[in-house]
Amino acid sequence: MKRVVLLGSTGSIGTSTIKVVEDLPGRFQLVGLAAGGNAKLLAEQTRLHQPKAISIQDATQVAVLQSQVGPDIRVLTGPESLIELATLPEADIVLIAIVGTAGLQPALAAIRAGKDIAIASKEILVMAGEIVMSEARRHGVKVLAVDSEHSAIFQCLDGKPTDSVRCLRLTASGGPFRQTPAADFASITLEKALKHPSWVMGRKITIDSATLFNKGLEMIEARWLFDIEMDRVEVVVHPQSIIHSMVEFVDGSIIAQLSTPDMCLPIQYALTYPERVSSARVQTNFAKLGQLTFEDPDTERFPAILLAREAGTRGGTLPAVLNAANEVAVEAFCQRQLSFLGITQTVRQVMKDHDLIEHPSLEQILAADQWARDHASCLIAQ
Ligand code: NDP
Repeated sequence: MKRVVLLGSTGSIGTSTIKVVEDLPGRFQLVGLAAGGNAKLLAEQTRLHQPKAISIQDATQVAVLQSQVGPDIRVLTGPESLIELATLPEADIVLIAIVGTAGLQPALAAIRAGKDIAIASKEILVMAGEIVMSEARRHGVKVLAVDSEHSAIFQCLDGKPTDSVRCLRLTASGGPFRQTPAADFASITLEKALKHPSWVMGRKITIDSATLFNKGLEMIEARWLFDIEMDRVEVVVHPQSIIHSMVEFVDGSIIAQLSTPDMCLPIQYALTYPERVSSARVQTNFAKLGQLTFEDPDTERFPAILLAREAGTRGGTLPAVLNAANEVAVEAFCQRQLSFLGITQTVRQVMKDHDLIEHPSLEQILAADQWARDHASCLIAQ
């Protein structure tokens, strides 16, 4: 029985993780759950899974939640409660699926407490990949990928060292605007951007998939997770989202991981690793699929790829700045205060105005994150 703490249990990844746990009875025990504000769903998950402790960021809901779940389960709140959950003595693995940067400190705390971590929140490695991976090596814990692309690469590499790799090829669906002419980008609405062709996900990542910032963040994530230089991380557009990513080895051989798109699969693999466990949930019918197609990403319409490559190559505090500026810009777009094109323009300008710090400490990363948020807000307000 593996004991799991799940941060972000009420979100898209969180609810898929609970499905995986329910698919495999007797294999996992949820010992801690955390949510932002959805107390109703958190209470229901708690009633079904009886964790030791839960956390809700919206402090106004603590009392009601405590009365719903009963006195035996601790109900916590505040950022420090995520750290408390991530370091619960009962936990074997902490799966982090909180949108935004709130997962970074709990991830580091879990690693330092000797827990394996499974990362969905890509912000963690984008902001502090160097620190997180070196802490994980120091404490001898695993950092497992939940993102389907990184899970695919992890499966394809299968323990092979990165010096046997020519390049990693991350696949991208291309998002809802893959075929939209550049001239129409100025009139892209929130409603259109929220319609992803192959995945149903949280709002932030859906917008990131439309700008391709999602792929950019994944490139940086891959750079740290697999300890490989940025120029060996490639992107290929594959609209069917059947190949989740590929590894091209030095001899020219390419290994890919395929399945119909369903996040339950990479989540299950991260939780059961190194075992593969039988599940009927994901079935792939090649005859029905018919064809798999590929194209290069158009970096003129989707400059996010170039900005992310620059941030990942120059490193230091720049990836955290890209991530923070993008978060602010996406929120402004969702509030209809910024155009779709304005997202990339804001991120580009914030990156340009940033004084990069090399090999930053965690404090310097968090300061750069805050600076980028403030600067992006200022630019948007202008
Ligand atoms: P959602 O928006 O669907 O869910 C976010 C979750 O985080 C919710 O449970 C939310 O709670 C919770 N949350 C938000 N802020 C806090 C906080 N401060 N403390 C505790 N919990 C909080 O996002 P997704 O599940 O789509 O994405 C989560 C992460 O996984 C993102 O980083 C995303 O990039 C990544 N990811 C997602 C994929 C997907 O298919 N969805 C694929 C690969 C990666 P509440 O609902 O109560 O507000």
